[in-house]
Amino acid sequence: MKFASRVTNVVPSLTLAVDAKAKAMKKEGIDICSFSAGEPDFDTPTHIKEAAKKALDEGKTKYGPASGEPALKEALAKKLQEEDHLNFKPENIIVTNGGKHSLFNLMLALIEVDDEVIIPAPYWVSYPEMVTLAHGKSVIVPTTVEQHYKITPEQLRQAITPKTRIFVLNSPSNPTGMVYTPEELQELAKIIVEKDIWVVSDEIYQKILYDGAVHRSIGTLNTEIFERTIVSNGFAKSYAMTGWRVGYIAATEPVIKAMTTVQSHSTSNVCTFAQYGAIAALQGPQDCLAEMLHAFTERRQYIVERAKAIPNLSFLTPNGAFYLFLDISQTGLKSIDFCQKLLEQQKVAAVPGIAFGADDCIRLSYATDLTTIEKGMDRLDKFIHLL
Ligand SMILES: *Cc1c(COP(=O)(O)O)cnc(C)c1O
Repeated sequence: MKFASRVTNVVPSLTLAVDAKAKAMKKEGIDICSFSAGEPDFDTPTHIKEAAKKALDEGKTKYGPASGEPALKEALAKKLQEEDHLNFKPENIIVTNGGKHSLFNLMLALIEVDDEVIIPAPYWVSYPEMVTLAHGKSVIVPTTVEQHYKITPEQLRQAITPKTRIFVLNSPSNPTGMVYTPEELQELAKIIVEKDIWVVSDEIYQKILYDGAVHRSIGTLNTEIFERTIVSNGFAKSYAMTGWRVGYIAATEPVIKAMTTVQSHSTSNVCTFAQYGAIAALQGPQDCLAEMLHAFTERRQYIVERAKAIPNLSFLTPNGAFYLFLDISQTGLKSIDFCQKLLEQQKVAAVPGIAFGADDCIRLSYATDLTTIEKGMDRLDKFIHLL
């Protein structure tokens, strides 16, 4: 059977694959410690679930506007203005089936054959594949530990060609946990404005920050950069709503209109009652965020201390998101080999860095309970010592 090249040119998400394998092994009764999940282990807060149930009972079960429920767009505009200092109105917003779908739709709406998209590595697993699915070309810019896995202004400038359309910025970052400072963003913004390209600011981890790190959207720096900023965000990570599939993009109106056209012929509106859950997430009490952040902070501190004590691993302490990105180059193993052996020998699941464009690294997610982290780190320690 022949398949379209758009499919044969991409690989399935390795992060989802590792997580599925770990879950399957667990189901078979194998005692797995999984660091693979890219999602909070908490249940969605009760008031959000109640709001969705109420919406169901009230018959919010029909088609809605393709770009999202007006009430949710209103609530998002308020959030973007008050919390992020981004002057977006409801017509600047499209509600999508999660942050992943946002970015996919966006690539379909903006990218033509051979258009270039600049992606700093390590990157989130799906960015380059989405560009390929849209028939564009990813320009991967490798970054090093010394530069804290952040693209430098010189690197950005050098990567831009007449074909460049988009620069993808993800802060706080999955997989590295690094956060760009306002000063660093300012330098990047100058180049983006000068070269007149779009910046996609993936801010899905904006609320998961540690040690006084602050999140600032690049779009807030001045009006020129604001006009070129496409903010991508969602409810999955902040509100433990991964399965709900609600995300959004905020940008200038023509971008939203183009994305709405794509959406109107593909998914149509996001599940109507799920959008009412999202409204409750924005308008309801926010103490659930502090509770989850408290747990992440405790786990991060623990996993960082443990990892420091294991020889032949090195890393930067993350100040955002919920991942520890370990450099394994001193073990002499590449990431897939390392993760396979770790899973077989010690029953610990981690994601190979090759999925993020960094084959000398592995990603541990600490969005899991402390007992699992403790047991998993004992096993990782043993694994390294037996190598
Ligand atoms: C999880 C994630 C997303 C999107 O998640 P959805 O579940 O699709 O909302 C987007 N970007 C990054 C970097 C992520 O880690």
